[in-house]
Amino acid sequence: MEQVRIKELKCPACGGKLALDPQNPNIEICQQCQEKYTIQWNRLAETGQEEASLKPLPRKIAYEPVPEVKKKKSGWEPYGWKRGVALVIAFFVIMGIMYGPKVYRRYQMDHGGVVVEQEADE
Ligand SMILES: [Zn+2]
Repeated sequence: MEQVRIKELKCPACGGKLALDPQNPNIEICQQCQEKYTIQWNRLAETGQEEASLKPLPRKIAYEPVPEVKKKKSGWEPYGWKRGVALVIAFFVIMGIMYGPKVYRRYQMDHGGVVVEQEADE
């Protein structure tokens, strides 16, 4: 059964020979284009043979971290929180407009405002 796996595989991209990655037996590396593939062995029900399907491995730059591309500042970044702050301020302004007079009257009541005591009888 195992001997089936020695079957020579070819790179789907360029037709080059694939060789096992010495570091990972599940990965084949193309000798020509260095493309890496993961192998999946599927046993065919009809023939009982194993067939390899190759999945291209996304090429990663494993050792050299890609220098982070400095993000272009669109100029909109600060507006995210500024808008949030503005909304909160707007909320308090609206609340102030709506409840300001009441709060003001209440304040005068608490401090013995003359005008307010008369209004309270209305
Ligand atoms: Zn190849």
